[in-house]
Amino acid sequence: MITMDTSSFSGKKALVRVDLNVPQDAHGKVTDDTRARAIVPTVKKIIADGGSAILMSHLGRPKGKVNPAMSLKPVADHLSGLLGAPVLFATDCIGPDAKAKAAALKPGEVLVLENLRFHPEEEAGDEAFSKSLSELGDVYVNDAFGTAHRAHASTTIIARFFPDAKLFGYLMQAEIDSVGKVLGNPQRPMTAIVGGSKVSSKIEVLQNLIGKCDELIIGGGMANTFVKAMGGQTGASLVEDDLLETARGIVKEAEAKGVKLHIPTDAVIADAFSETANTDQCAADAVPDGWMALDIGPQSIESFRAAVLRSKTILWNGPMGVFEMKPYQQGTIAIAEAVAEATDKGAFSLVGGGDSVAAVNQFGLAARISYVSTGGGAMLEYLEGKVLPGIAAIKG
Ligand code: AMP
Repeated sequence: MITMDTSSFSGKKALVRVDLNVPQDAHGKVTDDTRARAIVPTVKKIIADGGSAILMSHLGRPKGKVNPAMSLKPVADHLSGLLGAPVLFATDCIGPDAKAKAAALKPGEVLVLENLRFHPEEEAGDEAFSKSLSELGDVYVNDAFGTAHRAHASTTIIARFFPDAKLFGYLMQAEIDSVGKVLGNPQRPMTAIVGGSKVSSKIEVLQNLIGKCDELIIGGGMANTFVKAMGGQTGASLVEDDLLETARGIVKEAEAKGVKLHIPTDAVIADAFSETANTDQCAADAVPDGWMALDIGPQSIESFRAAVLRSKTILWNGPMGVFEMKPYQQGTIAIAEAVAEATDKGAFSLVGGGDSVAAVNQFGLAARISYVSTGGGAMLEYLEGKVLPGIAAIKG
């Protein structure tokens, strides 16, 4: 397999699938450019080598139709500022304008193609559409981890047209390497922290991790299902009654595999799902009727923290409580701080998957985490142990 560092893009046109699906305000102004910043190293390497870069991405959900509100033009302009260089723009991702602009591209130049998802063929993984895209460049680079779990034209099918000239960009490689450090052959002890709202969305993650970690911490709304499965009173907490048996199965499997399982022993409870509700604390298995557990309590924080601090490898997916509301964010803050502290002491930490990423950013701790993933759904599927089509297409 070829890599960014072992390749020279000199004189080549690199067709790069990137993730420029950035949040914008009503006027198209980019409000959070994290994703655009993340692709800069790959683009800079290509142009520094004397190559040119043709960037393709989706933006929003135009559902296969042209929608000017979802044009990538304002994002291309923003990217130009990040690169400190002009960025050209093609008004369609295939067809005469894209062809002419790609053909005229000179070494060091960058071209952004219009939103791929203006064509229904993109999400359908259409082969002819993939071929048309492929004809714009000499080498294919996939740097869009966020869509690696989708077998779309630009993320997967297109790789067929570059059997000897396909590689991962720096961002994608970093995501793959980070997951490798956690799930491949981790430094032990390895602790996985899984939180978030529901067991149902994390069953496969739990089942995959249980075979790989030494300690497993379960927090967030999903912990209530475990508490009830073990015979506890969960009051009005979020519980998935149809998954009590599944939860008991996970507890048994942890025992059988010698994995130390941590379930909250106490909780911050509220009499309504609201920031202004009455709150109290109680044992996790004695939540009064009409009350709900919305965060882990101080005793759980202490024992979870101790587990994190004795780890050499830490994976965190999902918040410990309803961290969007101030009264229920202490658990998530404490765990984020423990992960940062363990990392300061030399542990490798990966925070992956939507809300825990938002939490470490919100609490200003991202810089003290070894790797903060950019891919929500893609990271979740990766942690489930699935083969992501976008990764397989490059490796295959
Ligand atoms: P997920 O997308 O599955 O990772 O879940 C994240 C969401 O879980 C966040 O919006 C949290 O507010 C929510 N959450 C965390 N803890 C609880 C809880 N104890 N009860 C209800 N929702 C929770």
